[in-house]
Amino acid sequence: MSMFEDIPVDVGVIYEGERIRKNDMHIELGGPKNDKKFELTRVKKPEEIEDGKTTIIGPDIKDMEEGSTHPFGILIEVAGEKIEPELEGVIERRIHEYCNFIEGFMHLNQRYDIWLRLSKKSFKKGFNSFQYMGKVLQKLFKSELPIIEKIQTTFITDPKKVQEMHAEALQIYEARDAKARGLKDEEVDKFYGCTLCQSFAPTHVCVITPQRYSNCGSISWFDGRASARVDPKGPVFEIDKGELLDPVKGEFSGVNDSVKKKSLGEVTKVCLYTAFGYPHTSCGCFEGAAFYIPEVDGLGLVHRGFKEVAVNGLPFSTIADSTAGGRQVDGFHGISIEYMRSPKFLQADGGWDRVVWMPASVKERVKDFVPKEVVDKIATENEAKTIDELKSFLKANNHPVVEKWKEIPVVTEAAPEAEEAAPTMPVATVPTLPITAGGYKIILKDAKIYAKKVIIKTIKSEKTEKR
Ligand code: SF4
Ligand SMILES: [Zn+2]
Repeated sequence: MSMFEDIPVDVGVIYEGERIRKNDMHIELGGPKNDKKFELTRVKKPEEIEDGKTTIIGPDIKDMEEGSTHPFGILIEVAGEKIEPELEGVIERRIHEYCNFIEGFMHLNQRYDIWLRLSKKSFKKGFNSFQYMGKVLQKLFKSELPIIEKIQTTFITDPKKVQEMHAEALQIYEARDAKARGLKDEEVDKFYGCTLCQSFAPTHVCVITPQRYSNCGSISWFDGRASARVDPKGPVFEIDKGELLDPVKGEFSGVNDSVKKKSLGEVTKVCLYTAFGYPHTSCGCFEGAAFYIPEVDGLGLVHRGFKEVAVNGLPFSTIADSTAGGRQVDGFHGISIEYMRSPKFLQADGGWDRVVWMPASVKERVKDFVPKEVVDKIATENEAKTIDELKSFLKANNHPVVEKWKEIPVVTEAAPEAEEAAPTMPVATVPTLPITAGGYKIILKDAKIYAKKVIIKTIKSEKTEKR
């Protein structure tokens, strides 16, 4: 690309799916090893911006040791006559895409969760300064979004400064999210869709409604509206709600039509407020996931930052792999944290009355939005680390799911420590279950699956967005 003649590595869409393994990385920025990381976009007045400027606060790439990992922040400030503050969220979300255009550069996730790596190869080619990164981002932003008239970029690697700005960023994210709260799906005619993640998950379409925040947690309904307005041909588009087909599950004819079109016929039906049946697809950068726990007939929640294993013995990465890639998987469901604050949160499945376990840190973030009657009945890793501990906790606290156990004979008191000898019980009942094996795809319709033991293994796929 001649536009990037002065950059020592290539820049283009073809590098988007690139993964950089630990052994190939020169440096790592953010990610699970660093608590503090963020990316933020702010809309400014034209006179507040020095167009084309890149500032580096802290050590530059060339000052960093090979194999090292660093706290990190990216701040993009933009100005333009037609830019409203509501565009901050969607401009910010494009940082992910544009960083990934850089040869030998990887960007995962969003907001406070970013994870970047630069390859040894690209470093050797001369990509040794954030100045280059600033130039690439500035050029891409201006060419892709012509409403941006002025742009300046700041990269922060100084740990103290990252920490300080991280705290400010969290407040700004919260203010953005809070704005969409209170608006109901019934009160609007249009939803918005996003296909930004199709480079990783080709059949994935996010449906963004006031009460179902995007999976990545960075695009609200207001953000979607602002983006579709200024860039109607871009990855964020308008969806006519159409007819309400199922108010509990959240099925709309217009959503079905739009998703079908944008997934090239792969996904034909989506119910917005459920993790079963025809759930919303999951790409790979969702902030958290809901997972079905058959032993208690409840749902667990887990977020990307949770470093222990969830109560079912699986780490976030395995749970995420079970649903990523643009699929509709029963009982494994990618979601945002903000969606947990929605009154429509998994309402078809029982909402919060069905949630039995979640990490304490997420509970802390959303507890004000959980009905008072149930909030203390939901276990965290502090109360339950195993299914057995969970069962006892739920029983002792008379969680609403306990009522339902009577319908499942196996989870009664009659069979106490008979874990191994326990009769088989349905692990899942699913309308469609795709199984991929040896190059074949087998689809079971209306299957009831019985198992003595369930082993879930990660299938390595370049299409998923995390490792
Ligand atoms: S998770 Fe959804 S809303 Fe967020 S960037 Fe991906 S497709 Fe768009
Ligand atoms: Zn995604």
